[in-house]
Amino acid sequence: MYAEGGIVDLERLGLSSGQARALDLEVALDPIELGGQTYEADGADEARLDVSRTTTGYALRLRFRTELMGPCVRCLDEASNEIEVDAREVDQASARDEELRSPYVSDGELDVHRWANDAVVLALPDQLLCRPDCAGLCSVCGESLNDADPEAHRHAQAGDPRMAKLRDLRLD
Ligand SMILES: [Zn+2]
Ligand SMILES: [Zn+2]
Repeated sequence: MYAEGGIVDLERLGLSSGQARALDLEVALDPIELGGQTYEADGADEARLDVSRTTTGYALRLRFRTELMGPCVRCLDEASNEIEVDAREVDQASARDEELRSPYVSDGELDVHRWANDAVVLALPDQLLCRPDCAGLCSVCGESLNDADPEAHRHAQAGDPRMAKLRDLRLD
């Protein structure tokens, strides 16, 4: 009831200085474009927002988990990565210093939708993989090596002119 359209009306919580309130929210997450691929974030339907009233504004903390679905950067298989978000914001309404203003708060309203989406991007791992030890694709034939038997998956050695050429290239 406090997060209609992804906006939380902080003033409506009626907190006085030193008081805090925890809100359970649903957050809608937008697809993320990365390296030409699209990753779908499962909506965080159990987000926790902690709102603390300070003497001059608000201290905010947003926590949730989501599953990000999209191609593994090594093997291009469908991958699912759990993203854990734990973000904080401080907003001091009277502060002139930009550092003390939150870009997500204006006129006592918190844009929790925009904050949540930015926070997911900041919480992304360096690489989105189907599994931490993904073996990737064979550099010769492009087949995924995750399910391949390393003994069976061998390309012709000497005698295959294409292979000789590849070996030469690698020596460069
Ligand atoms: Zn993979
Ligand atoms: Zn191969």
